[in-house]
Amino acid sequence: MHQSYISVSYILYQAKNPPFNSNLPSSAPVILFFVNFRSEIYLNPFRKNLSMKKNETKPVLVIHGGAGTILKKSMTPEKEKAYRAVLNESLKKGYSILSKGGTAKDAVEAAIRVMEDSPLFNAGKGAVFTHDGKNEMDAAIMDGSNLMAGAVAGVSTIKNPVTAARAVMEKSEHVLMVGKGAEQFCEKNKIKTEKASYFFDQVRWDQLQSIKGTEKTQMDHSDKIEKIKKKTDSKFGTVGAVALDKSGNLAAATSTGGMTNKKFGRVGDCPIIGAGTYANNKTCAVSATGHGEFFIRAVVAYDVSSLMEYKGLKVKKAAEKVVMKKLVKLGGEGGLIALDAKGNIAMPFNSEGMYRGYIKSDKIAHVMIYKEN
Ligand code: ASP
Repeated sequence: MHQSYISVSYILYQAKNPPFNSNLPSSAPVILFFVNFRSEIYLNPFRKNLSMKKNETKPVLVIHGGAGTILKKSMTPEKEKAYRAVLNESLKKGYSILSKGGTAKDAVEAAIRVMEDSPLFNAGKGAVFTHDGKNEMDAAIMDGSNLMAGAVAGVSTIKNPVTAARAVMEKSEHVLMVGKGAEQFCEKNKIKTEKASYFFDQVRWDQLQSIKGTEKTQMDHSDKIEKIKKKTDSKFGTVGAVALDKSGNLAAATSTGGMTNKKFGRVGDCPIIGAGTYANNKTCAVSATGHGEFFIRAVVAYDVSSLMEYKGLKVKKAAEKVVMKKLVKLGGEGGLIALDAKGNIAMPFNSEGMYRGYIKSDKIAHVMIYKEN
């Protein structure tokens, strides 16, 4: 900055004393001032970095892999290790994008794709089965910087439904596309598809057989299937991610196979903007998991945002109120992850457990499953 002071003094001096070198134009002092001023910005990379870092937001990524009856007693050490490994990989993958200056929407998409590709979670490969023995997947993404959103519902052939949702957001003028139409749109946009056999998972198939004779739909991560058939194995899983990037922008995304034994083209909360997925830089980014019908009726994700926007609640208070009070009163089982623009996190759930995790600037991936950890 001292160079600019020198220029300012030079201008003042020249104002009183006309240029000693008459070959110089009279605007020379002003030009010199700007040359010096700009050299401060461009020719001093060390100072430039210092000032940029001051304005940068510290990135944060939070993920979930579904909430439900997740009890330590019904978990084997191998199974737990496998879940933790995928959650860890998802956090690392998403965070590597954020730490390089990538966007929050890139990070949530990448984090979710890792979980969609794993059969452990009820999204993408390993999605639950409908009553008719099909996979019908839903996904949504929202960009908190401009309130743009995209979603797909009831798609059966898309390898990574979250990527399809992003294409709807960025390559169409619509927000939600369903079934065959959504698949045609994906084909046009060269989004990767897979045959039905890719999505097949034996445990999910057995879950459907356990419940098929009943009129019930079932959350993938509930013990009611076991109560019906006295089975002990259960897998869990809708997946979601919320992120804050270096520019201070928020994004949210959610992906799911929905509920086992669902019929008649049932669609859950996940692709409904404001119910299972929502992001707004002014408030927070939210991704939910649980019994979708309750989450739709309680407009869960937007309710958390509204409590912050209109009532001035902090993200933790707002999220707790919706999940532990409003949803409990309605009888809705599940949870959510929420993140505000300052990097504050909330991960409440009213079920036994929720696969969840977060990663901040220390780059340590924190993964939790049960109530205690
Ligand atoms: N919310 C999802 C649905 O109702 C289910 C889940 O979270 O597992 O479709």
